Formats: sequence, C-alpha cells, structure tokens
Amino acid sequence: MILMQGKGVSTGVERGTIYFYHRADATVVKRAVEDLEAEKLRLTDAQKAAQAQLEVLAEKCREEAGDESAVLFETHAMFVEDEDYVDAIIGVLEEERCNIEYAVEQAGIRFAEMFANMDDAYMQARAADVRDVSRRILNNLMGIVAGGIDSEEAVILAADDLAPSETIQLDKSKILAFATQGGSGNSHTAILARTMGIPAVCGLGENLKPEYAGRMAYIDGETGRLVIEPDELTLTAFKDKHDKQVEMKKLLQSMKGQEDVTLDGKRVNVYCNIGSPDDVAAVLANDGQGVGLFRSEFLYLATDDYPTEEQQFEAYKTVASAMNGKRVIIRTLDIGADKQVDYFQLSKEENPAMGVRAIRICLNRPEVFRTQLRALYRASAYGKVAIMFPMITSVWELKECRRACMSVMQELQEEGVPFNADTEIGIMIETPASVFIADELAQLCDFFSVGTNDLTQYTLACDRQCNDLGKFFDPHHPAVLRALKMAADAAHRNGIWIGICGELGADLTLLPTFLALGMDELSVSPSSVLPLRAEIRKSIAKTCDLKLLEC
Ligand code: PEP
Ligand code: MG
Repeated sequence: MILMQGKGVSTGVERGTIYFYHRADATVVKRAVEDLEAEKLRLTDAQKAAQAQLEVLAEKCREEAGDESAVLFETHAMFVEDEDYVDAIIGVLEEERCNIEYAVEQAGIRFAEMFANMDDAYMQARAADVRDVSRRILNNLMGIVAGGIDSEEAVILAADDLAPSETIQLDKSKILAFATQGGSGNSHTAILARTMGIPAVCGLGENLKPEYAGRMAYIDGETGRLVIEPDELTLTAFKDKHDKQVEMKKLLQSMKGQEDVTLDGKRVNVYCNIGSPDDVAAVLANDGQGVGLFRSEFLYLATDDYPTEEQQFEAYKTVASAMNGKRVIIRTLDIGADKQVDYFQLSKEENPAMGVRAIRICLNRPEVFRTQLRALYRASAYGKVAIMFPMITSVWELKECRRACMSVMQELQEEGVPFNADTEIGIMIETPASVFIADELAQLCDFFSVGTNDLTQYTLACDRQCNDLGKFFDPHHPAVLRALKMAADAAHRNGIWIGICGELGADLTLLPTFLALGMDELSVSPSSVLPLRAEIRKSIAKTCDLKLLEC
C-alpha cells in the first residue's frame, strides 16, 4: 500500500485504476516515403474514422441542441471527402514524396489561408472549419485520442497538472476522479471538477509517479488522500465512507422541491455555476433555482478558433430554454490569467492575473465583444437571460459595456431579430476597486455578484493558483468579509440585489455571515445546492451576526 497526501479540492470518494494523462504531441514531422500507395490507404482509413466520429458528434448535437447545430458537424463530414481538398492532399504527397501527415497538414494550411483571404465574411469563417477537419484527420493518423483518455473504463485521471482548456476537453464519462501533482483549490481546473461533481485531489507533488499507471487506488477528495493498492483495513474504511456518501445523497434528495428559505422567512436564491450547456443536466438534477454564473469562456477554451455568433447563440439558447424561465446569468468571456486560449494570441505577461484579461480584452477587441453580445441578446428571447461583466474596476468600463449593449440591441432591432430589451445587466465584484466605488457602479447596473476567488486574490495579494501560499490565502480573512459587507450595503442602498458566485458561496461555515450580510443569492456548483439548501432551511437569519468580520 502506498499512501499519498495532497489537498482535497472536490469532495467524494472513488476507487479505480490510475491512468496518466497523455499530453498529445501533435507536431507533424516531415519524412521521406517510398510507398505512396500505402500512405493513400492510411489517408482513406483516417477519413473513414473522421466521418464516423463526426456522425456521432452530429447525432449528439441533434439530440442536445437541435438540427441547426448538428449542421456544423455534417458540413465537416462533407469536407472530409471534398474533392478539391483531397486532391490537394494527394498533390502534396506525390510532389514531395512525403508522409501523409505532412501532406494533410500542408493542404490544410493552404486551404485555410485561401478561405481566410476571401472577401466574404462567411467564407472567411470557413477557415476555422478547414483547420478543424485537418486536425481531426491528423489526430486519427497520429493515434491521438480525442478527450485524452485511451481506456474503455472510467479511471482516476492522474497528471502533473491540467490546464482548464485540457480539462474542458476531457471525456467526463471516463473520469472517476482527478489526482494532480500541482494545482490549487482555487484554480479553474478544481472549480471544473466541483462543477462536474468529480472528486479531486491536487498538490500530490513528486509522490504521484507515472509508474503508478494501471494500479488500483482509492482517492478521497475530502481528506486529500490517495492510496495505491489499499490494504484490507483501508478498503473497509473506504467502503464505509462510500456507503455514507450514497446514504447522504439519498437523504439530500428530500431537499428537492423545497424552498430556499430560513426558518424566519429570509429567502436566498440558490443558483448554480456552470461552464457549458452540458452542465445544465446537473443543475436540473440538483434542483438549482437558476444559473448564477455561466463561465462563457469555457466555450472559447473548448475550440481551436473563435466560436461564431451562431455557435454561441445555440449554447446560450440551449441553457436559457432548458432553465425554462429561471434566471440564467451569463458572464461575458473571462479569458486570461490561467485561462489561456492560443488563438487569442495574447502577449506573454509577467503578471497575467493583473494583465489584459476578462473585460479588458473585450473592451480592447470590440468585434469579439460584439459577437458575444449579439449571441447573448438573441438568446434572451428564449429565457430569462442576464448578462454579467467580469473584472470591473472603473465606472467608465461599465459605461462602455452598456454602450456596447445598446449598440447591439439597436442592430438587432433594425434586423428584426427578437431579443429582450429588459435583459438584466450585472457586474462581478472581484476587485477591491469595485468595492470602493460600489455605490456608483450600483447606479449603473441591476445586480452585483461577488467573485470571491479573485476578490480574495486581489485583496490579500495572494495568487489563487499558488498551492504553497497555504494559510496566507484565506477567504475568511476579515478584509475579504468586510469587502463583502461594503458591496452588500452599497447594493442594497441603491436598490439592487447582490449574490456570491465565488467558491466561498458553498462554504457552509460562512452561511450565517452571508445571512447577516443580507446576501440575496448564492451560486454554487450543482452538487452543493442540496447541502446548502438543507443548511439554509435550518438557519434563523435574524440571529446571525457579523462576528467573523472582527480581527
Ligand atoms: C471568482 O473570481 O470568484 C469567480 C467566480 O470567477 P472565476 O473563478 O471564474 O475567476
Ligand atoms: Mg473571477
């Protein structure tokens, strides 16, 4: 038995085989080849595989989002055997007498360039499709597994660390739990694990060795323990905990359909944080009363190029319609810091958490912002959509955001496209600056949602990504809690509502403080909804105090 101690960042216990994440090396190397016919046969096989994969994707899309969104994959499937495209590949192969991987890559680049240089915006956008199709064929040729996990069974996924863009692209049905050498509880990968309801342990360091791949292990996302080949005693303890977990889940089911109201009648809206339309199933299964934070940037992280207005519209519409009139707060893209997207081509920064990120990118790139706002307003015709801006630090930023909204609404009006002109506009309170000027900001928006992950980071000058900061990164710090009070008082003074969508919202030990502060909403990962509801229903708001705000 080998015992390792890390940091539990997403609760739950699981048992399974350790699988080490393969970071695919997708670099194509040119090789001289004699047998060109053999290369052509390899191409045919890779094309067939691509078509089978695209058929599955189109079917999945049709079921989840309707015919319109499936069209993209059907178009890709047609492109796989497009005569001109295949001729171009064979042309490179015969001219250069090289491996087929190189020929596919070169033909893909040439075709994508050709589309990108066309005058028509629609045709220009096809360059991304060409790149996508070429990448798919290449992956098949190079044996790169989509979703990163080449296993029939679900596994405990081990890795040095995982970037949010890697986590979002994993096949969730294959993952029992996450175990990483690095990482921190406030990283977006940990947040994603909680959203998916998958146990996770990070910070295992060098103790987590790649040679453990294939060995059976027990992982506990609460205590942060990973045990490889547990002895009988440990296994019995694991089974007990697992049974209790199942029992607890059953017990919490009785909370479904109950109101989020304290014993003395204070209502707190319990909403959910999500990263993709797929997560709505978990929101509904856990009876979340709304979506308090849709991290829209995960749509951008899951693709190799800017998602189009149409793709975004489908995603937002899917969530809005599925929530059936319940509020869905969609945050405009919050790229930057740990959420890096290659095609944005952001400059390398010394301090990316304080660099050109989130709303700063949107205000610097009006076309990217406009595309997202158009998709959001179009989706507002299909449910109760609210729009939220991240990382606001100044009044002028919010005014510019509002101007961008007005201009998009005017465009849609002129085009006769339906949208809800009363769509709520809110901001995230996640910088000390926004706390200090909360009164002025409150006069320009409909709600505040406190991002306690970043608010803690910027208030305490503690990098949320750094696992070594330990007790210095303390979201319970009186300075953070006083910042919450300043924001809550300013919101209520100005007649708007305020919630929390950072990870702190699910911290049951702070619920009395949140009630004393008069928080109107708490947005948490779907698996935290029922435990939070059970606690709210046991609480008496008027007896709650603000003792924790004292030093
Ligand atoms: C936060 O900062 O608390 C927040 C909710 O946003 P994110 O974690 O996505 O930065
Ligand atoms: Mg944030």
